Amino acid sequence: MSYPVSKAKSLGKQLVNNVVDMTGLFERRIKQLESEPCWIVITYHRVLDDYAKDPFALGMVTQKQDFKAQMQLLKQHFDIRQANDVIAATKAGETLNKPTVSITFDDGYLDNLNNALPILQELQLQATLYVATGGLDTAQMLWWDRVIYAIHQSSANTLDVRNLDITGCDSPLELSPPNKKRSVETLLDGLWTTDLSRCMRAVDAIEDQLNVTTNQHWAPRMSSEQLRSFQQAGMEIGAHSIHHHDMSQLDQTRLQQELSESKSTLETLLDKPVTGFAYPAGRHSEVVIESTRAAGYEYAMSTIRGFNHSPIQNQYAIQRMVIGDNDVKDFKRCFAELAGNMR
Ligand SMILES: [Zn+2]
Repeated sequence: MSYPVSKAKSLGKQLVNNVVDMTGLFERRIKQLESEPCWIVITYHRVLDDYAKDPFALGMVTQKQDFKAQMQLLKQHFDIRQANDVIAATKAGETLNKPTVSITFDDGYLDNLNNALPILQELQLQATLYVATGGLDTAQMLWWDRVIYAIHQSSANTLDVRNLDITGCDSPLELSPPNKKRSVETLLDGLWTTDLSRCMRAVDAIEDQLNVTTNQHWAPRMSSEQLRSFQQAGMEIGAHSIHHHDMSQLDQTRLQQELSESKSTLETLLDKPVTGFAYPAGRHSEVVIESTRAAGYEYAMSTIRGFNHSPIQNQYAIQRMVIGDNDVKDFKRCFAELAGNMR
């Protein structure tokens, strides 16, 4: 089942999308970009056949048919290059002479291999995947998927969060179907700002209290072997920390460990240097940027919404356009809006 989303909002969006489509705004903005060469980094999380695995519509899932249409659109209009290739070119003093797109995926979901890769191969496109290395090969879901799954599956009326020590959560959360989405959002917001070890303990406690055990088929991740196949298909693999928490809240020792260990784990696994990093949920600070540089990465992706000027101003805070449950019209509207900001 899925839970209520705002109808008014989606109708409003559809209306704007149709206006963008009818007036050819997307095509006009592409023309304008030709005189302002820039680097456009597009980000996906999951690519699925349907939205069943995104019951709360949290914007993590792109439908496979929409993903394919977006790839076709990008291929038609832009130079598509892997992120590490653009960075290497920048380092060599090259300025992009036409708008260039890089396609990226965060987290390391198995559907990227099963659903996105065949489309990329069919269209002869290369992409980059940023992988969180914690719990690889253990069938453990990523921590937010464990929370989403536990709440989705549970038939309890409330979740008592008072002893879980989650930031900002001090009264029981309603779990009746109309309230589940809001409770999931409250929990996830709170967990992102809760200290890493307390966050991990709280996720265990939520599963215990709701009596829901992790389900490796709900949001499966790529195994080491599957990551190797993804790389062997010509794709770049970058790091995305170990535990996927807010890097700007970690103490220096933990921060360095999250950066260095995720890098070395992947380098050993893939037998190749890992030069790119994506900050979990884009969260970073000046200290995080400095530590990322010191850990030997050559660039890092943020989730600051925007396109990057060429030459790139700050290669440790690269701006991106994150795509969730957007169809092609929606994609064109978001794109046209960000292209408009480049002037
Ligand atoms: Zn992530």
